[in-house]
Amino acid sequence: MQKTIFALATGNELSALSVIRVSGKESEKLLKKLTLKNTPKERLLTLRNFYFPKSNKKIIDKCLVVWMPAPRSYTGEDCIEIYTHGGDAVFQSFFSVLSSFPNVCYAEQGEFSKRAIINGKTDLVKAEAVNDLINSLTEKQRELAISQFNGGLSIPIKKWRKEIIKCMTLIEAYIDFSDENDTPKNLNIKAELFALREEFKEALKNKHYYQLINKGIRVVLKGKPNAGKSSIFNRIIREQKAIVSKTPGTTRDVIEGQINYKGNAIIFYDTAGITLTDNNIEKEGIRRTKKLLKEADIILNISEDEKFLSINDNTKEWLVLNKIDKSGNLKKKLKGKAILVSAKTGEGLEAILEKIYLAISKKTKRFDGKKSIIMNLRQANELKEAEFNITQALEEKSEEIISEYLRQAINALERIIGSIDVEEVLGNIFSNFCIGK
Ligand code: GDP
Repeated sequence: MQKTIFALATGNELSALSVIRVSGKESEKLLKKLTLKNTPKERLLTLRNFYFPKSNKKIIDKCLVVWMPAPRSYTGEDCIEIYTHGGDAVFQSFFSVLSSFPNVCYAEQGEFSKRAIINGKTDLVKAEAVNDLINSLTEKQRELAISQFNGGLSIPIKKWRKEIIKCMTLIEAYIDFSDENDTPKNLNIKAELFALREEFKEALKNKHYYQLINKGIRVVLKGKPNAGKSSIFNRIIREQKAIVSKTPGTTRDVIEGQINYKGNAIIFYDTAGITLTDNNIEKEGIRRTKKLLKEADIILNISEDEKFLSINDNTKEWLVLNKIDKSGNLKKKLKGKAILVSAKTGEGLEAILEKIYLAISKKTKRFDGKKSIIMNLRQANELKEAEFNITQALEEKSEEIISEYLRQAINALERIIGSIDVEEVLGNIFSNFCIGK
């Protein structure tokens, strides 16, 4: 018998209220036993005293509760939500009471969502979107998550799946009736498959968008030791995270700091300056720096004089002249060629942020909340798999084999929305979820 699960749906910091969620067959029985009353009207907040079981009415808390019988609940199972007072001891008492009942236990990560998917109440894209919404820190992240929740990717996936099924039906008919006279002489599905593959390719072009919005745009600071990278980094992220020192080579490891600028996440990386060194720790710092430079969206090539480190990637590297508070002539000379800043006075730093913001806006310009198909890495990998199978189908002559490739393509699409291989796919994804979701 499937267990009834419970968890705290709200954060466990001090707050006025906490919400405890319960889902499963035992929910109604628990509710009756703890309130010593009949089940309240469904989907209606009702005030109830909750008592310790068999305690002669020793009260746990007086709180609002809502009863949501299956299937009209988030998980599709019988559910209750208890709005307790926020104290730690309050929900701890509830937890120990709830787990004292047979077949009732604390939920695993993402278990509520997993059950919701298994019971057909939501799909995996939407569940992932809910998780993104819970974790969203910037306005752009919230916007993207809610649009995915409202069907963003699920809608085209379902449409594509239908189109492939239509092609498969035509193949089946062609195979089944190929002996009879009234079947079409040619099976003509290539045009449909070709158009479908183009749509997949178009959608896959957007795969970096999700990363850009959700993980943030990556800005790496490079430059000779003492150029002032750590000072700029600290000033921008507004905390003293990196050690600033006159001794060159102080920053040996990569330090990361994130800010939210006009609704966008920007991650700055302060790196070890790239120099020739025999020191092993410094060497490791340099190796990491090189890797980051490759992955960066923007590189700030920082210098305190005219001798900038060489530019490796024109498309994303900007020159930044630091210490302009003390370099009058150089400032005039490099005006227009480099961004002029002073980590000491703060001059020019806002201009860097504004320029980064413009770069993000440019990268995300072709996305329009409604029309664009956006996906995360997992979803993009499955779509690539579907695209691969369509390509194979297009190159194949045997109808049976074409049909098999199309089935594989459908499987990949179904894994995106979680309608097959649920346990396997979900186990992985939900390990990142919070317990009460
Ligand atoms: P890094 O090795 O590139 O990370 O450089 P640091 O940030 O550690 O700075 C090296 C030295 O330059 C420190 O003594 C800083 O105080 C100084 N410094 C950094 N930025 C400025 C600036 O804008 N103006 C002046 N006058 N000194 C700075």
